[in-house]
Amino acid sequence: MKEINRYIRLIEHDNDSQLAPEVRALLASAIDATQLSYAPYSDFHVGAAIRLEDGTVLLGCNQENAAFPSGLCAERVAFFAAGVQHKGKRIDALAITIRSASKADAQPAAPCGGCLQVMSDVEKRQGSPIRIYLQGNSAPVIEAESVSSFLPFGFSLVGK
Ligand SMILES: [Zn+2]
Repeated sequence: MKEINRYIRLIEHDNDSQLAPEVRALLASAIDATQLSYAPYSDFHVGAAIRLEDGTVLLGCNQENAAFPSGLCAERVAFFAAGVQHKGKRIDALAITIRSASKADAQPAAPCGGCLQVMSDVEKRQGSPIRIYLQGNSAPVIEAESVSSFLPFGFSLVGK
């Protein structure tokens, strides 16, 4: 018998002024994406921005639906768009932001389990980590070095 431990390392930045310009730009793109979300039921507008290896930035935002299970999270909208429009390009970073009029104190929110599984699969296939930045309605910004920080035991069929 052996014990298996996994530890995660998150960095909390007091505000985005401490971040590199390209990270601040990615967070700004994610904030822009919240304006495109369709979230009349939750009033929880999530914006995602992913940066590809060539610097291309793609947006995603949550798309709710009257038939609730038919909607999709911002992260998966962006990741699936990358898979179609930029197949084979590495994803280097992801920023996720939240805007909510009724939840003005919305704190940074980690991706849901379904999105983490999708992101974990992409990360394993490309063989390099995807750095993640989370921000709520305002500061702070939470930084993770990899999807595996949030999902250390992601399901995989590729044997990695
Ligand atoms: Zn999700």
